[in-house]
Amino acid sequence: MFIKKIGIDLGTANTLVHVPKKGIIINEPSVVAVTIDNRVMAVGAEAKEMLGRTPDTIVAYQPLKDGVIADYRVTQAMLKYFIDKAAGSIRFFRPEVMVAVPAGITSTEKRAVIDATMHAGAKAAYIIKEPVAAAIGAGIPIGSASGNMIIDIGGGTSEAAVISLGGIVSSGSVRTGGSKFDQAISDYIKKKYGLAIGDRTAEEIKIKIGSAIPLPETEIESMEIRGRDMVAGLPKVIEVTSQDVTEAIQDELSEIIQMVKSVLQETPPELSADVMDKGMILSGGGSLLRNMDELISSATGVSSYVADNPLLCVAKGTGIALESLDSYKLSVLATK
Ligand code: ADP
Ligand code: MG
Repeated sequence: MFIKKIGIDLGTANTLVHVPKKGIIINEPSVVAVTIDNRVMAVGAEAKEMLGRTPDTIVAYQPLKDGVIADYRVTQAMLKYFIDKAAGSIRFFRPEVMVAVPAGITSTEKRAVIDATMHAGAKAAYIIKEPVAAAIGAGIPIGSASGNMIIDIGGGTSEAAVISLGGIVSSGSVRTGGSKFDQAISDYIKKKYGLAIGDRTAEEIKIKIGSAIPLPETEIESMEIRGRDMVAGLPKVIEVTSQDVTEAIQDELSEIIQMVKSVLQETPPELSADVMDKGMILSGGGSLLRNMDELISSATGVSSYVADNPLLCVAKGTGIALESLDSYKLSVLATK
């Protein structure tokens, strides 16, 4: 019953905690609310509720918004909250903690995550790069001497990596993803319809009717949305379609495609032949956008598949790596 091992997916949008043999026990937004005199007020779901609704005296942060550790103290508060919530704030054993971080973060930032994890009460802290954890969680045998490519499309960042023998051979990362799609949708609607909508509405449109490629006439969907008319300043209802979404997020999608292409170009020929054979695996919430796999396949000429439970892959991978540290030691950075 005592929890001794904790795997954490420290995502830009969501933080998930995976405990070996129990599975995912926490899944909450990566948000921290802080008062102006620097007290942490709330973390996770409770803090997300405060986003956009806080009085001047409270700031709601997304500490990893662009895939970098923006604020050490806030990140530490967030890690402590999740570790306490998973292991209990009064514990007899200090747990071992594996944290998955964006592949693009610097070594100073990695060090900061390790320190923050130790300060939050871990006995030992390990860091694993997100694409590696995602591949493990997706059930890819990353220890083999063969190239495996994973593309993770998260909230604030998207990353691609070719992994062989447990290590990253080539990788790329861009600061775009699901949250940027939402922003682009709301900008587009503002421009085309003169309607201001909230972030949540934009996300809902994306998930319900969005598509990464233009849909055939018969498959186009539409939905009614509420917002504020920019001229009259009053509430107004309009109808948006799948086509609006596809058009709105073109730039973000092409940034991701460009990044994937450059990773393919940097991959040694033997390994890219493996990737050609096996296809590329997609993880992260952004991979759930309708036709994301088709867009990537057609743009690169390499087939791609969405992993099972793409939102959970990274967290599952951290738990698996922690359970079999020996097999994954080449992929993990340890405390000291
Ligand atoms: P991170 O790892 O950066 O925290 P996640 O992998 O949790 O990010 O993905 C979060 C993003 O996935 C959000 O922008 C969310 O809107 C998006 N998302 C979740 N489900 C879907 C869906 N069904 N279709 C499109 N986007 C989705
Ligand atoms: Mg992620």
